[in-house]
Amino acid sequence: MRFLYRHRFLIARRVVSIGILVLLWMGANAHLGVLTGNLSSSRLFRTVPLSDPYAVLQILAAGQPLASTVLLGAVIVLLFYALVGGRAFCGWVCPVGIISDGSSWIKRRFQLRGQFRVARSARHWIMVVALPVSAITGLAAFEWLSPVGIVQREIIYGPTLGLAVVVAAFVVADVFVLHNGWCGSLCPLGAFYSLVGRVSLARIGFQVDRCDHCGDCVVVCPEPHVIDFHEMAQKGIVGSGDCLNCARCLEVCPRDAYRFASHFHRSAAPDLDEGDHHATKHAA
Ligand code: SF4
Ligand code: SF4
Repeated sequence: MRFLYRHRFLIARRVVSIGILVLLWMGANAHLGVLTGNLSSSRLFRTVPLSDPYAVLQILAAGQPLASTVLLGAVIVLLFYALVGGRAFCGWVCPVGIISDGSSWIKRRFQLRGQFRVARSARHWIMVVALPVSAITGLAAFEWLSPVGIVQREIIYGPTLGLAVVVAAFVVADVFVLHNGWCGSLCPLGAFYSLVGRVSLARIGFQVDRCDHCGDCVVVCPEPHVIDFHEMAQKGIVGSGDCLNCARCLEVCPRDAYRFASHFHRSAAPDLDEGDHHATKHAA
C-alpha cells in the first residue's frame, strides 16, 4: 500500500495515457465510439471535436483545407490545457512521455548520461521552423517525422514490429546520445505546450518553510531546471511553463513541500536563507 501511495500520481498518469490509447485503438478496431481518431484529431463520443493545436497550425501553414470543426477542436484542446497545465499533455497523455520516463529511469539507475548537449531552446526553434517547412512542402512537417506521431499511429492502427524498432531507437538515443533527451531538447510539441503552460491555471505549489533542501525533487523531475527554489520561494508555485504537472516532486518530497495549486496562488515570500541558495544551486 505504501508503494501504491508513493506512486499514486505515476499510476494515475499511466492509467490516463494508456487508457486514452486503448480507447483510440478500440475506436479504430472495435467500433467503440468513446474516442475515435488519433492524438492529432479525434472525436469524443463521435461528437465533440478534439484537435492538436500545433498540428492545426502546421496544416494551416501548409495551405491545406481545414474543416471548421477541426478549428473548433483546437480551441477546445487549447482551453483544456490552459486550465490543467500546458505540458500536462506531456505528463499525462503523450505516449512518448512514457518511453521518455523509462529512459530517464535507466539513466538514473545506471548513472548514464547522453553525450551531446542540445540547448533546451532548440525545441522552440524547431517549433517555429516546422511552420515555414510545412508551407514549402505543403505537408504538416512535424506530424510526419515526430516520434509522437509515429508511436501513436503504430499503437492505434497497428501495432507492428516497427513500434518495437522505433521505441528501441528512441531509448538508445535518449539514454546515450541526447543529454536532456528528446523531450528536454528537441520536441516542438512539448515546446508549443510549454507556451500554453506559462499562463495555465493549474500549477504545482511550493511551501518553502517545509523544504529541507534534500534535492529529491530535482533528481526525479523530468525538467529539473523548472525547480528554481529562489523563484518558487517568492511565488509559492513552480512558475515555468516547462513544468509537466506530473507531480513526481509531490510524490517524492519527504516533507510535503509541494501540492497542487493555481496560477493565482501566492504564498508569503520569506527571506531566503543560505539553505535556499544552496538548493537553488543544486537545481541549476
Ligand atoms: S516533449 Fe514531446 S514527446 Fe515528450 S512528452 Fe511532450 S509532446 Fe511527448
Ligand atoms: S516540478 Fe514537479 S510537477 Fe513540474 S515537471 Fe518537475 S516533478 Fe513534474
